[in-house]
Amino acid sequence: MNAVPKLPALAAATNAFLARKHQLFIDGKWLAAVDGRRFDVFDPATGETIATAAAGEAADIDAAVRAARAAFEGPWSKFTAAERSRVLWKLADLVEQNAQELIELEIVDSGLPMALAQYVVRGVVPEFFRYYAGWPTKIEGATIPAAPQGKRPGDAITFTLREPLGVVGAITPWNSPLPMVMLKLGPALATGCTLVLKPAELAPLTALRIAELCSEAGVPPGVVNVVTGFGEAAGAALAAHPGVDKIAFTGSTEVGRLIVKAAAGNLKKVTLELGGKSPIVVFPDADLEQVIPAAARACYFLQGQNCMAGTRLFVHDEVHDKVVEGIAQIARAMKLGPGLDPSSEFGPLISAEHRQRVMRFVDAGKREGGELVCGGTAPSRPGYFLQPTLFARMKNDMTPVREEIFGPVLCVQSFGDADLAQVARDANSTIYGLSGSVWTRDIGKAMQMVHRIDSGQVAVNMHAAIDAAVPFGGNKQSGWGREFGKEGLEPYLKTKAVTVTW
Ligand code: NDP
Repeated sequence: MNAVPKLPALAAATNAFLARKHQLFIDGKWLAAVDGRRFDVFDPATGETIATAAAGEAADIDAAVRAARAAFEGPWSKFTAAERSRVLWKLADLVEQNAQELIELEIVDSGLPMALAQYVVRGVVPEFFRYYAGWPTKIEGATIPAAPQGKRPGDAITFTLREPLGVVGAITPWNSPLPMVMLKLGPALATGCTLVLKPAELAPLTALRIAELCSEAGVPPGVVNVVTGFGEAAGAALAAHPGVDKIAFTGSTEVGRLIVKAAAGNLKKVTLELGGKSPIVVFPDADLEQVIPAAARACYFLQGQNCMAGTRLFVHDEVHDKVVEGIAQIARAMKLGPGLDPSSEFGPLISAEHRQRVMRFVDAGKREGGELVCGGTAPSRPGYFLQPTLFARMKNDMTPVREEIFGPVLCVQSFGDADLAQVARDANSTIYGLSGSVWTRDIGKAMQMVHRIDSGQVAVNMHAAIDAAVPFGGNKQSGWGREFGKEGLEPYLKTKAVTVTW
């Protein structure tokens, strides 16, 4: 049994937040759920309950949507673009000022390792808000040289207005919960939309804290509302609510389909960031010193609970054994432990149920003839840990290769001197198309693979090139639309064409 380390004490602010009775955040006020129900929030590194939260349902969603509509038509609509910029900039500052608390909450709520939580809270989140703080003053329409009804130049003018779409329902998953919320908040505030957020019930805490920081940053009541609760109740009610103009969903492809059906009632706009099963393709001339740690990171980062995880590794025969052995060495050496221990490199999975699901895929891999090189077992210790797992000699039709596991299971396949088109066909033989990477020093080969791989993002000699300015999203069944960058604003805007004559 692994020794359970003595952990550093939580900051006073974190303890104070955890000790609160967490309610729904509606119209700038903390409210109990209408029917008074609550649920436990637990630390996946220990299994212990750390807080309880209100279980909102349809009536609470309705109250939040009404507040969001009133704010959209009321005070928020009077904010100038420059004022919205300042709010986002202030929010970034507040995230930095409250970083230690947010880091610790993110760790105990979702199991992030410390280094990753630090990077996310001190780096990714404030930089993302600052990136979107730059946009409000640059959202512009166009003037169009049109001649409606035969009007001559000088007798009419046509231009477009870019207006905020309205009330956005945001539904987010539990992996890396704060960035998932950030991805909806940034463009919503930049464009002048209002938001009803339903975070995952497995990790709702930082969503509640960030809503409070939004108020501190000057966001009027009703602009950002948070209804914690369960997907089938609160999430489904939000997706179906006739007062919501758009759903911004991040989660599984399976629930994404339910969202589309629920949104059909009032033909809401829908963006979907869904599952992935991303390929990593390694050619024999690649720099293996780079490839080996990067491939391990691509899959095991966030314990594999990461939509863009590189989980299907295609390696040329010539370097196959060396790459597999190198990754196995890294996987075996990874230090498992709670994120609060700064020396932990690999945290827990989110829940006992999720770990069981991942283990079923490990069993399927063994049963279907894969070679288990390392991992695949749950250490005997509190929390929901699972060893980073590596399978070699996998084939495209095996269950762990086909399905999104959302856990630390890397499946390796080898290829010989097949033509590039065949390698790309194998890399594309999945219903998903979110991310991917190609490793070679041959720029021609790299660009031909980039051209052929069917995914929203492909990187050469790195995996998961994420930046606030770079659009990210899925092809095929990995989703609809893009987040990040200028493209990430578009789903929050509508265009009005105006013609004026005199
Ligand atoms: P789920 O799809 O199970 O849940 C996502 C959210 O949807 C949660 O808030 C959940 O509520 C809610 N939900 C569940 N059922 C419904 C419903 N019927 N109607 C409305 N909302 C509902 O995903 P997970 O939380 O398990 O997250 C993992 C998935 O997210 C993976 O597939 C992963 O690939 C994907 N993901 C995609 C990303 C991307 O950018 N493409 C990024 C991160 C994750 P609750 O859980 O509280 O019951």
